[in-house]
Amino acid sequence: MENIESKLLNAPGLEEVRKVLREKILITPQVSEEMSQTVRRQEALVDSLLRAYTMYDNGVPMRPTLGNEMQIMYMRERQTLSFLLFPELLKLEYEVARVIGDVFIAPMMRGKTLPEILNSNQPIAAAHRYAHEEIVVAREDFGIYRHYECADCYGLPNIGMKICAYEAGTAAGCFAKPLGRPVEVIETKCCANGDPYCEFEIHVG
Ligand SMILES: [Zn+2]
Repeated sequence: MENIESKLLNAPGLEEVRKVLREKILITPQVSEEMSQTVRRQEALVDSLLRAYTMYDNGVPMRPTLGNEMQIMYMRERQTLSFLLFPELLKLEYEVARVIGDVFIAPMMRGKTLPEILNSNQPIAAAHRYAHEEIVVAREDFGIYRHYECADCYGLPNIGMKICAYEAGTAAGCFAKPLGRPVEVIETKCCANGDPYCEFEIHVG
């Protein structure tokens, strides 16, 4: 009993937990590749999620009575509070989203150059109702695009954070595959950072 009490007394606080996350998590390109391979080994899961995109696009309900749409606050609360409490997770979730882009979104991409890919991808944001997408710059090795009414952050107050790591990571993963080059996507403006829209820079390596 005494042991448990002294353990609790010496247990790390929030700041110390965050410090561990900050110092111990390092996602190298090799780890990122391992992450993709780990997901691909789950063949039934990959098939099921890929099928779900087709079902969504064809208006086929994934759930028999509740369909394919959901009140977006559930998703927003989870991710916004996760990132507010542990900003270190932004980097980790960016890498998870890169796998989503690589495994699930890249197969749907059309085009071989960044301008072609951006243009063919642009209507999907509104079709899937996560944002209105505007392409600002589209060059071979660099691009900028904006998201208006972003599902992740539009309408949130300024919490001093750019929280759309899932969007940035997914974009990085799905652009890298057809380009055959490493890509990083950085969110430079975000509604959760006091901006009126989200803006993303695409850097092709
Ligand atoms: Zn944002």
